[in-house]
Amino acid sequence: MNRRCTSGSCMVKAAGRPASLDLSLSQVLVDPMNDWRHLTAGRVRIARDIKVDWSQFNQDKFIFSHCTIVSSVNVEENGYYIDPVCSPLINNNGNAWSNPVLLATFRTFVGGENYLEHVQIPELSKGKILDALVRPIKYKNVKLGKEANVYYCDILVATERRHGKLCSRIASGELTTMSMGCLANWVQCSRCGLVLGDDDENCEHIDRQMLQAFTDENGIERVVAELCGRVSKDVNGSWIGDPESVRFIEASWVERPAFEGAVLNHFLSEMPKAAAEILSFPTYKLEQTMEELFRMRVADTRGMMVLRVAIEEMNRRKREDMSSRVLKTFWG
Ligand SMILES: [Zn+2]
Repeated sequence: MNRRCTSGSCMVKAAGRPASLDLSLSQVLVDPMNDWRHLTAGRVRIARDIKVDWSQFNQDKFIFSHCTIVSSVNVEENGYYIDPVCSPLINNNGNAWSNPVLLATFRTFVGGENYLEHVQIPELSKGKILDALVRPIKYKNVKLGKEANVYYCDILVATERRHGKLCSRIASGELTTMSMGCLANWVQCSRCGLVLGDDDENCEHIDRQMLQAFTDENGIERVVAELCGRVSKDVNGSWIGDPESVRFIEASWVERPAFEGAVLNHFLSEMPKAAAEILSFPTYKLEQTMEELFRMRVADTRGMMVLRVAIEEMNRRKREDMSSRVLKTFWG
């Protein structure tokens, strides 16, 4: 059942890729209510229904940040070939979200948790995602000299001031990067179009060719990615996203590694302190999020590493538990 747990192979390959929206820069809002209203007031923005309870979320208790957290990609007529213009928008774990899927699912950000380093234990949440919106963007690929229509998703995050050290780092601009986490109930291969549910076997592309280039039947070079979510055709023959196929559940403050390669090479020693906490969690706590961890997608490679460490730790404990039980049977 751990099919959805992205394996280590893609992380190794990811080391050579330029970062895109892998780590999103945030911006502290000085006058949150007005700043956010201003940010959401433009004609071209799609979601305008602001339902933030500003009396509960006030500046005495929270620090507010705005962050462009995820971008979609333009897909071709068949629904899964990613427009080469959008290749840099595939994240470093090989995940991407098509325009229809992002449009159908971005609202699930609202009410999500604000964590540190993707440590997704509700008691360790540092705040809330208050609002989300998408705006159409003409993404320009400078290398190809071409443009594509995509969407950027912006979120409004409230971090509780009682986490004093964290908030002072945010306020001073020392901590500026956020990364999102989502659950994908369905994914689709961007090379062969295979749609996979939780228990389905990967196609060879998702298994072994993530982030590698391939040439399609028309001689166009594209990148193999795992499209989160799934689409179907409406009565007019347009692709629409399945709103249940992806759930965005959190946005985490993450350290910006000076050199990502170093992080990948020095697995545990370079792991952020907050993430290392995972190793000290009691088993029941780890267990309660395990089901979800297997379906998790996070935007940055370090976040993915944290999830993998959690899963490894859980497996280790299970093995230990089993061997101690076996010993007990033999030795009483
Ligand atoms: Zn495939």
